[in-house]
Amino acid sequence: MPLSASNPSNPSNAPAQQWRFDSRYLTLPEAFYSRIDPVPVREPKLLAFNEPLAAQLGLGFLLNDPEAVNYFSGNAVPVGATAFAQAYAGHQFGGFSMLGDGRAVVLGEHLTPDGTRVDLQLKGSGPTPYSRRGDGRAALGPMLREYLVSEAMHSLGIPTTRSLAVVSTGEPVFRQTAQPGAVLTRVASSHLRVGTFQYAAAKGDTELLQALLDYAIDRHYPAVADADNPAQALLSKVVDVQASLVVQWMRVGFIHGVMNTDNMTISGETIDYGPCAFLNAYDRETVFSSIDHQGRYAFGNQPGMAQWNLLRLAEALLPLLDADEDKAIEMAKEAVSQFAAIYTERFEQMMLNKLGLESKRDEQDETLISECLDCLTEAKLDYTNAFRDLALPTLPDKPAYHTPKFQAWHASWQARLASQGWSEHAVSALMNRTNPAYIARNHLVEAALLAAESDGDLDPFKNLLAVLSNPYEPQPGREHYADPGEYNPGYMTFCGT
Ligand code: AMP
Ligand code: MG
Repeated sequence: MPLSASNPSNPSNAPAQQWRFDSRYLTLPEAFYSRIDPVPVREPKLLAFNEPLAAQLGLGFLLNDPEAVNYFSGNAVPVGATAFAQAYAGHQFGGFSMLGDGRAVVLGEHLTPDGTRVDLQLKGSGPTPYSRRGDGRAALGPMLREYLVSEAMHSLGIPTTRSLAVVSTGEPVFRQTAQPGAVLTRVASSHLRVGTFQYAAAKGDTELLQALLDYAIDRHYPAVADADNPAQALLSKVVDVQASLVVQWMRVGFIHGVMNTDNMTISGETIDYGPCAFLNAYDRETVFSSIDHQGRYAFGNQPGMAQWNLLRLAEALLPLLDADEDKAIEMAKEAVSQFAAIYTERFEQMMLNKLGLESKRDEQDETLISECLDCLTEAKLDYTNAFRDLALPTLPDKPAYHTPKFQAWHASWQARLASQGWSEHAVSALMNRTNPAYIARNHLVEAALLAAESDGDLDPFKNLLAVLSNPYEPQPGREHYADPGEYNPGYMTFCGT
């Protein structure tokens, strides 16, 4: 693999930071991608640049590179990059389609200074062979939303793709109305999706599937290569990482909004921030996406939908599990059936930590958790703020905390805490590192995007981003960022298409 350096503004005696592309994806059969460059834009302007992430990637030199805006808009392709759009398929709201990157290109796999391999992708970079009737472009609001929410998720400690830059294009995109266009630079541990395997399976070519399996194992789970049955071992890994991921979403009240199989990664990172949002009042049935009419991807349905998606992955892998189809189906079922037990165990552990408890003692802990969630639902308590309140030395004087039901639950929780025997300080420390004080509040996200879109004012975006970069620490003077805003059951988010 040739290492490519391109940094005219970097004096020759400076540390050798550079682009390091090594796109092994391009060694897969050509059915998996189309070689295509990003389409240049009229007037690129760098609106957001993630300096800490750039440093981590070994791309800190871009701060001083006048070409940076051109790389992040697609107007220039970095030396060594060979851009391509990926092919994939997906079940979208249950219906299967052949898809692909219709408005994105991967510039390449970049190696960071510590040898980590990441995809650098431009999203909103123009039409590709997979665009169907779409324009290949993205609007500024949704790209800033992805930047904000993905970085918030990262700061919450949740696996996610990252956002390196947002560039406005100086070109309008036409949705319901004309909106400013933008390109997001996304960093992912890969863009392999459940839908990538579905694509290979739908082609009916076992060699394609095998090549993809080998690539995915090599990239994400190299130890699995030595398993007796690598396909089943990979499936089990994905079941494991996705169970953990959804538990993390449930911890902070994150609703993905479009858990289609093309939006579920093999790596276990959260991907594709479209109509996503965070819960205010705790309610399992909460749906924010304007396109989710049936509530398929409601907050409380997320574990079930993850398992449904994993069954689609298992189906795609059948030909590699065993030559005997019945046997393959048995193996697939067995691997996916692990999801429920893994999920439940980690969910209970997570909920107990939210309550300052170290680990499960007996079945009464299950009751403690479910009654806690019942209380929250009934009182329409803000999910985030309620757990921070519970960690205080005395509960704030809110009517919702004085109902007989809540008081009864609170007493049983206190008794359980007493039997754990920890100091108050140790309990609140565990709670406050499990329960964020700050999440991306829907009204604040909307206000920040609106200011950027209509007035070109990026201050609210930057201020919100700064608060969300430190979500577990109280931030004196910024308490209003924890305000749920008006309880608005009708709040809707729209995807960026
Ligand atoms: P998403 O809802 O962003 O996960 O996208 C679902 C599919 O639609 C993917 O194949 C996208 O590449 C494609 N798509 C979304 N928006 C556009 C667009 N503006 N132009 C072309 N393809 C798009
Ligand atoms: Mg998608």
